[in-house]
Amino acid sequence: PFDVLIVGGGPAGAAAAIYAARKGIRTGVVAERFGGQVLDTLSIENFVSVQETDGPKFAVALEQHVRAYDVDIMNVQQAAELVPGKTIEIKLKNGASLKSKTVILATGARWRTIDVPGEAEYRNHGVAYCPHCDGPLFKGKRVAVIGGGNSGVEAAIDLAGIVGHVTLFEFAPELRADAVLQKKLYSLANVTVITSAQTTEITGDGKRVNGIVYTDRKSEETKTVELEGVFIQIGLVPNTEWLKGTVALSRHGEIEVDAHGRTSVPGVFAAGDVTTVPYKQIVIAVGEGAKASLSAFDHLIRSSVD
Ligand code: FAD
Repeated sequence: PFDVLIVGGGPAGAAAAIYAARKGIRTGVVAERFGGQVLDTLSIENFVSVQETDGPKFAVALEQHVRAYDVDIMNVQQAAELVPGKTIEIKLKNGASLKSKTVILATGARWRTIDVPGEAEYRNHGVAYCPHCDGPLFKGKRVAVIGGGNSGVEAAIDLAGIVGHVTLFEFAPELRADAVLQKKLYSLANVTVITSAQTTEITGDGKRVNGIVYTDRKSEETKTVELEGVFIQIGLVPNTEWLKGTVALSRHGEIEVDAHGRTSVPGVFAAGDVTTVPYKQIVIAVGEGAKASLSAFDHLIRSSVD
């Protein structure tokens, strides 16, 4: 069996693999898509010590760093089941089964999409999901935020300090964010809030976003707003469907971890966007991956002498 088997090949999984391999223990990585969300990112300007890079370049660098060590990388493989035990088993979708003394879950998350025309077409060309990442790209411009929950309202407040104007769209008749956030939002001069609005299309000129079309659900009128960017903030979904019933999850489906990255199952650790650790960022995922790996190593040296 492996000493450490990592499920997920994004920043968290890569960091965990490097830290494990450097201890000279048998390390494996199973990943559906090595690189993870980074592969869908254009520009990265907030990975500390790297002033600017892009997603595909960053993903290649991650893989090269991992491959510099003796790590068994099983790419394009999907984990389908975790079976706890003294030796933990990971069953793959293709029917194969892997065994390991410890497992690190780093399967990440995905942004919930609104599935309207233009969203996929203009992704990274005006359509964005992460205000911490892409906010500065819209300096002085007009943007929309879709979603009036806490993350949408936080994003609108954050963006209002950078961009020219923010229009926040909420499907329901009222915002769902905490009162204190709403109060802050309504105090900002360059924010417009539109409730009872169903976004029906993100328009563009073939290259970049130039507007948004929505239906006013009260009057049933179709309206258009001209703008340069759309931030979709209707939720981040952790990739934990396959873990339901085995590892304790929060009500949002995130893996619950303690300060050492331990999950509810002995020998199973987790790191990155898939966990309850707040602020989903590369620099955080990398740190958490390193931490989970050191915790797994600590578990190994304490648990067996065979
Ligand atoms: P992920 O990157 O999601 O990786 C998860 C890995 O697990 C992948 O390899 C995936 O294939 C694999 N996986 C999932 N399920 C399974 C399974 N069942 N079996 C096997 N493998 C599985 N952050 C920044 O810090 N700066 C930015 O500029 C930035 N821009 C972003 C732009 C976009 C468009 C997006 C989507 C995100 C951006 N982020 C940015 C966020 C950042 O990408 C994430 O915080 C980070 O990638 C999380 O790393 P992770 O390793 O936890 O998960």
